[in-house]
Amino acid sequence: MAANTSCPFGRFARSSVQAALIQHRAQHPNGDMYMADKCEDKKCFRHGGLKVRGETLHGKVVSAKSRHTVIVERDQTRYISKYRKWARGTSRIAAHNPPCINAKLGDLVDLAETRKLSKTKAWTLVGLSMKGETR
Ligand SMILES: [Zn+2]
Repeated sequence: MAANTSCPFGRFARSSVQAALIQHRAQHPNGDMYMADKCEDKKCFRHGGLKVRGETLHGKVVSAKSRHTVIVERDQTRYISKYRKWARGTSRIAAHNPPCINAKLGDLVDLAETRKLSKTKAWTLVGLSMKGETR
């Protein structure tokens, strides 16, 4: 991929995480529509100095009470070998919510792993694939 200033991931384009994000963005063309063009957040992955690496996930915002932080819940299925059954549950992840994304309760969001941002936060939102019914 050539250097493209309009691509928000241009400066990380070589990383496989970013490749996955670009692919996801192609499948959710509305995602960019929800995002503001700029913000002043130092911990923003697009406008600040934050680098993302590691895994990417999708989930739903279940709490947006904190400033610049949302709680994202995702379904989790794991196999318990003792009972030979699949157990269903959910996991909750605290993620950074930069002002340019500004996710609200009920939104479906994309997460990417990043450095430790606070005691409980090591993920950041990188996109918004669908707005929730609450707004
Ligand atoms: Zn931003």
